[in-house]
Amino acid sequence: MTMHEPFVSLGEIDEAREAIAATIRTTPVNNSPVLSDLAGVPVHLKLEQMQITGSFKLRGASNAVASLSDEERGRGVVGVSTGNHGRGLAYAARAAGVKCIICMSRLVPQAKIDGIRAQGAEVRIVGQSQDEAQLEVDRLVAEDGMTMIPPFDHRKIIAGQGTLGLELLDQVPDAATVLVPLSGGGLISGVAAAIKARRPEVRIVGISMERGAAMHECLKAGKPVQVEELATLADSLGGGIGLNNRLTFAMTRDLVDDVVLVSEAEIAAAIRHAYWQERQIIEGSGSVGIAALLARRIESTGPIVAILSGGNIDMNQHHRIISGEDVDVTQEAA
Ligand SMILES: *Cc1c(COP(=O)(O)O)cnc(C)c1O
Repeated sequence: MTMHEPFVSLGEIDEAREAIAATIRTTPVNNSPVLSDLAGVPVHLKLEQMQITGSFKLRGASNAVASLSDEERGRGVVGVSTGNHGRGLAYAARAAGVKCIICMSRLVPQAKIDGIRAQGAEVRIVGQSQDEAQLEVDRLVAEDGMTMIPPFDHRKIIAGQGTLGLELLDQVPDAATVLVPLSGGGLISGVAAAIKARRPEVRIVGISMERGAAMHECLKAGKPVQVEELATLADSLGGGIGLNNRLTFAMTRDLVDDVVLVSEAEIAAAIRHAYWQERQIIEGSGSVGIAALLARRIESTGPIVAILSGGNIDMNQHHRIISGEDVDVTQEAA
């Protein structure tokens, strides 16, 4: 039998909520009349794309930084993410007065580098691949004693993301089904742990894209497996869950009721719907709950909450999508 760490508890999520209260923003919930009509039950949108740094990742990163010892704070934190986790970590570190280095390869587009720098982190460009960037992270940990903060498989990260579940229950106490964008599973593990502890009857549904749905493949296999990363409009949902996954695989397997997959065309339709009907600018990864609702793949006998997890989309790409252009990223390298 493989041993895993005990699941993240409601107590840890409560503690996280207190620890990060001064750093994060409480994000609003909007009712969607159009989606409510379509679903036949009230549908609410949790507007987490309005979180500082544009995604929920700030919650986990802030909690991880808040949990450092004084000695660790003095040596700083390091990460490899070029996306929302990198932004969140950079912001959280700066807010706490902690040094932060984000390592990335030469292949990372300038816009992503600028996005991380704008949050105040030092960006170190090393090597030709994510793996080479990881080697530099390992060196900073080994030689300079910096603390590596991973994007999802870490109890402080999961507890931080779980605060979104507690906040959502306060705002929509009669929620029956919660739709959660799913990649490495940090968000859904935290949200499910929080919500199931308070209201076990609430259904938690993970939504991933059809192209490269890593957690879905792992759940089918019954263990963490290698999954090929493919280009998708839901780019923040790409990547594997780690073959040595310690927490999010088991928590997702045991706490999540269902996983639903959406196509590229459905993601594009959801980004368009969010803009024209809900007046929200969201990235592909943040739109997958709306995509599943529009595709009528969600059934619920009571109110549904869809978490709009992030808004960091290239605005030229967004413009093309909402203008009705057929934006196909699947021909590009991942
Ligand atoms: C990271 C991310 C997700 C997925 O979160 P996991 O914890 O990896 O499952 C979903 N949406 C957005 C916008 C993200 O940045």
